[in-house]
Amino acid sequence: MPQTEIQILNHLPVELLSARTEDLCDILGGPTVINLGGKRPRPLVASSLLHGNEHAGFYAVQRFLQMNIGELPRSLIWFIGNVEAAKASRRRLEHQPDYNRIWTEGPRPENKMAMKLKQFIKEQRPFAAIDIHNNTGKNPHFVNVNVLEKKFLFLAHLFSEHIVYFTEPKEIFANAISEICPSVTLECGIVGDESGVDHAYQYLNAIMHLPEIYSLTETDDIHFYESVARMMVPPDTEILWEDQAPTNPNYIQLSRQIEEDNFKDVAKGSPIATFGGDGRILVMNQKSKELTDDYLSYSGNQIQLSTDSVPSMLTSDLRVIRQDCLGYLMVRRRLEI
Ligand SMILES: [Zn+2]
Repeated sequence: MPQTEIQILNHLPVELLSARTEDLCDILGGPTVINLGGKRPRPLVASSLLHGNEHAGFYAVQRFLQMNIGELPRSLIWFIGNVEAAKASRRRLEHQPDYNRIWTEGPRPENKMAMKLKQFIKEQRPFAAIDIHNNTGKNPHFVNVNVLEKKFLFLAHLFSEHIVYFTEPKEIFANAISEICPSVTLECGIVGDESGVDHAYQYLNAIMHLPEIYSLTETDDIHFYESVARMMVPPDTEILWEDQAPTNPNYIQLSRQIEEDNFKDVAKGSPIATFGGDGRILVMNQKSKELTDDYLSYSGNQIQLSTDSVPSMLTSDLRVIRQDCLGYLMVRRRLEI
């Protein structure tokens, strides 16, 4: 079976109750939907392992099924995504696209798989959808929404007081499914953090027992942010810690405590790095438009924020900074409901 054909099973293979994510490729062979009936017919959609090294979603659903052998309180559509990458404990393999960037019409077999699954989900008239991830860097557990409607916000707030809104990239699972039912993306802390599995399990358990998705009525305790940009380091800039000496004329030096700034209010003028030569941090929006001058200023040997911001997903993993980004910049917004 080609790895991009989706398999839909109307039963739970018993091995899944004890499997490790590394074993799923051998057990399932490819991306798989487990479609299970329950007491309330309209299903919850739970998506896991769109990124193969982000285990929280798989283990949360697995625990829920272990605890609910027999009858489920509600029907469940469980999507187990990139099992090939999970086997290697990687986000994705070299030849693969990012499985959370395939949820629009497109030329790749993975786009076709995603559109087929979206159609299947639509036909099942789901009551809500959650996509479960981990991330890099020290962040609180938080939740992303792509639509500002009361039911989406209710679903989000049930997971975390930290709600992040963005509309780009559009090619993500939760955005595609938002056309069908309320949907959110959970960010359950760093990979391997057991509290992320516990939290996702408790959330899943709560939603599976809800008679309906209500509307959010109170916003008092919500921290609501809009994600506006991501920070990248160009390849010709050397990345160092503050106590390391440069070997390249163009460099930036970062604080070893950089992850402590995640989800904190950082005031305009605060330094985020020092630099030498043409060492740079670039700020881009999700459409790859450069916005560096809107968010950063270069003063003396410091790179400073030029606007009040709340950073997120700042990471001290140099490989992630090189391959993905240094982190995101968010701004606080008032949530009007
Ligand atoms: Zn992810």
